[in-house]
Amino acid sequence: MAKSAQTSLVDTFGRVHTDLRISVTDRCNFRCAYCMPEEGMEWLDRSGILSYEEIVRVASILVNEAGVKSIRLTGGEPTVRARLPILVERLAALDVELSMTTNGATLALIANDLKSAGLQRLNISIDTLHADRFHELTKRNELPRVLEGITAAVAAGFDPVKLNVVPMRGINDDEVLDFLRFGQDNGVIVRFIEFMPLDAQGQWSNDRVVTQKEILETAATEFDFEPITRGSSPAERFRFTDGSGEFGVIASVTEPFCEACDRMRLTADGQLRNCLFALGHTDLRPLLRSDASDADIVNAVQAEVEKKWAGHAINQVHFIRPTKSMSQLGG
Ligand code: SAM
Ligand code: SF4
Repeated sequence: MAKSAQTSLVDTFGRVHTDLRISVTDRCNFRCAYCMPEEGMEWLDRSGILSYEEIVRVASILVNEAGVKSIRLTGGEPTVRARLPILVERLAALDVELSMTTNGATLALIANDLKSAGLQRLNISIDTLHADRFHELTKRNELPRVLEGITAAVAAGFDPVKLNVVPMRGINDDEVLDFLRFGQDNGVIVRFIEFMPLDAQGQWSNDRVVTQKEILETAATEFDFEPITRGSSPAERFRFTDGSGEFGVIASVTEPFCEACDRMRLTADGQLRNCLFALGHTDLRPLLRSDASDADIVNAVQAEVEKKWAGHAINQVHFIRPTKSMSQLGG
């Protein structure tokens, strides 16, 4: 059936919003130091989390009536939510590009199910290739399982598989070249993400950020590469000139891509956020749990999109650090 987008979600700067990140849970089986405290995290009450029916309703409305073209599942750790392939199958039935970001720990078990359910692309987060450091960073001894998960994702036919790597000064910034070699050897695309002030634990500081410039300088000590023309992706992409693949850098701190941002985020409890760094949100849950019409939901989303700022202000004096972490916002 042909899709009739009746509305576009346009903000006051003319940016059209076609990408929706959906956090399916705030819970996680890891405790990455830059994302969550090791103990004492307060989870959302289960009754407050959107059901699969509620998530699919929002997604269908936004895809069929408001021009959303891509959906990424995230969290928390999306794979800790029970029966995830069922949600994937329902979302895959929409006319939309469907992807997921995961820590990879359970992929060896479910990569094939996710692929069969219709998931198209996978990003797997991994910040170190050293077992002891992995434990320090995530508080879990799961490096072997994550590596198996990466292999399983490639074997299941996900193409491309991307690895999200957050280099932090003095912690894992000596692994940039190792990751580039790993990407070439395993047929996956490594994407370095600048460390952002979203850790909710005060771990972030400007001097811990390993910048895009530094990453490229390090990469150039061993590899020849050239830029690939940038599409709508926030990643600056580079191709190895010997044809052995590509890598990317997301310079959210030093070279933010806000002027082309097309993203909105739905948290696990139904808050629509127009930016990771937004201080406010629109609560869709009461609408979903009342007799609000589809049009009411589109209007609420449009109103939230219209509140979007020109850009975040991480490098400016008036920047206010969000009190929520990536895991709570749906990174
Ligand atoms: N649990 C899944 C995972 O780790 O891939 C999905 C959620 S996680 C919040 C999404 C991404 O956010 C991961 O790639 C993680 O590395 C990244 N992330 C978390 N905190 C971050 C921070 N303070 N700065 C930059 N990236 C961060
Ligand atoms: Fe969990 Fe992902 Fe946050 Fe790590 S980055 S604690 S895996 S949600």
